[in-house]
Amino acid sequence: MLKNGKKNGIKSAKSQEVSASTNGTDYPRHSVSPGEKVMLAAVDADQSEHYARKKDVEEELEVQRRRIQDLQARQYAENKQGLLIVLQAMDTGGKDGVIKHVFSGVNPQGCRVSSFKAPNPEEANHDFLWRYHKSVPARGRIGIFNRSHYEDVLVVRVKNLVPEEVWRARYGLINDFEYSLTRGGIAVIKFYLHISKDEQKLRLESRLADPDKRWKFSTNDIKERAFWDDYQVAFEDAINNTSTEYAPWYVVPANKKWYRNLVVARTIADTLEAMDPKFPPAEPGLEKISIPD
Ligand code: ATP
Ligand code: MG
Repeated sequence: MLKNGKKNGIKSAKSQEVSASTNGTDYPRHSVSPGEKVMLAAVDADQSEHYARKKDVEEELEVQRRRIQDLQARQYAENKQGLLIVLQAMDTGGKDGVIKHVFSGVNPQGCRVSSFKAPNPEEANHDFLWRYHKSVPARGRIGIFNRSHYEDVLVVRVKNLVPEEVWRARYGLINDFEYSLTRGGIAVIKFYLHISKDEQKLRLESRLADPDKRWKFSTNDIKERAFWDDYQVAFEDAINNTSTEYAPWYVVPANKKWYRNLVVARTIADTLEAMDPKFPPAEPGLEKISIPD
């Protein structure tokens, strides 16, 4: 059964429960329930429900984009709740593609993308959450983290940038941080875009072969690829230790870019819908007003 994620190794009563969607549509959520132990090797990165090709999801993706646009307009006007969207993936996993294809049409005034690379000296002199906290969205806004505080338990762990006791303690610190955001009116959802090692090879090859994509190629990506297995373990531990009721992880099958976009778009739309943002009431008596010449 595809519907509750059993096929992709994410099993739990909770994901089945979540499958009964807010808008009455039944589809796999790809969510990770608190306490669940996801094994990434068991998640089929190629899956795409009953859809076979890009054309099959085009209309549906547009429907989801419109839902996001409409809900974002309400969220912005209401100015009470924010949404932080965390995007993580292996290199070439598609973080940039998601931002481009899911958020096209969203009002830029209500939305900001923050990208995080290796910390600069000022950032490195602060606690690890400092630079992320500064970039979280305000109420009424959507914030997208292109890489995030999770790098501090991913690359930092794989490359031994700090001792184990330091990165291990960060799972709890991250949970506390995200809890404090949600208590402050900022919802948090996290996507791991799951590609296979073979798919990464194809994508790196295509970047090399296409003059218009070559700018995206970095020899560092090859160096990082050598640590593939270590990264998978680090991702698994990060996801399994930090998927919470208040800040869930979604493991998105991402070998098919169009399916990945659909899953992310409808998850964001469902999350915004559950937040139920409302336009503020109009001033009383507006019906009596006529605009003077
Ligand atoms: P991306 O690969 O995300 O599309 P990019 O290609 O523009 O972005 P890169 O320089 O490849 O930029 O990626 C940013 C690099 O910064 C990654 O290798 C990532 O692991 C590293 N990085 C991010 N956060 C941290 C951190 N907290 N500590 C160390 N390195 C980090
Ligand atoms: Mg890169």
